[in-house]
Amino acid sequence: MGNNVIIDTEECIGCESCVELCPEVFEMDEGGEKAVVIPADNYDADCIEEAIETCPVECIHWEE
Ligand code: SF4
Repeated sequence: MGNNVIIDTEECIGCESCVELCPEVFEMDEGGEKAVVIPADNYDADCIEEAIETCPVECIHWEE
C-alpha cells in the first residue's frame, strides 16, 4: 500500500460510488463525468480501501 491514491481517469465511468463513500478524498470533476482525488497530505486509508473494492471498473489505485 502506498500513501497516495490515484484514479485512472481513462477507465472511470463516473458512477460516483467513491465520492459517496469518501467525500473527503474523492470529488467529481467540473463536468461531473469523472472522479478526481482531492489533494491532501493524509488520506483515510480504510475508506480508500473500501472505495478501491467498490469501484466497478477497478480504476482506483495506490500509487507506489
Ligand atoms: S468508483 Fe470508480 S468508476 Fe465510480 S466514480 Fe469512482 S473512480 Fe470512477
